[in-house]
Amino acid sequence: MKKIWFTRGLEWLYPPKCLLCGELLPLEKAERELCTRCKEEMPWITQLICVQCGRPLLSGEEMRCERCRQSAFVFDRAISVFIYEEIHQSIKRFKFRECKHDAVGLGKIMANYLKTFYADLL
Ligand SMILES: [Zn+2]
Ligand SMILES: [Zn+2]
Repeated sequence: MKKIWFTRGLEWLYPPKCLLCGELLPLEKAERELCTRCKEEMPWITQLICVQCGRPLLSGEEMRCERCRQSAFVFDRAISVFIYEEIHQSIKRFKFRECKHDAVGLGKIMANYLKTFYADLL
């Protein structure tokens, strides 16, 4: 019981915000990562992707992007969840502004992406 009140007190002092746009989230909302608008407009990568780095392929590229064809990366395969340019503010906030607590929410979002688009890997 004390833990619930402590959590509620923290939420009142530091109300949950959308990880992508920073909008305040309702306290009673079960999911605490994204506002409704960001959830509906999530910039998931759903187009054809590079088999090595996971970035969307540009027109004229097949299987591997130009960057992967010209570079010797040490990994065989990566999966990109978002189009970076559309969520870079959120990533910068997480990396450089002491928003390390966003890691849990961002991890949940990425896990949901994998469950949705890469269920065969899990
Ligand atoms: Zn949002
Ligand atoms: Zn690539």
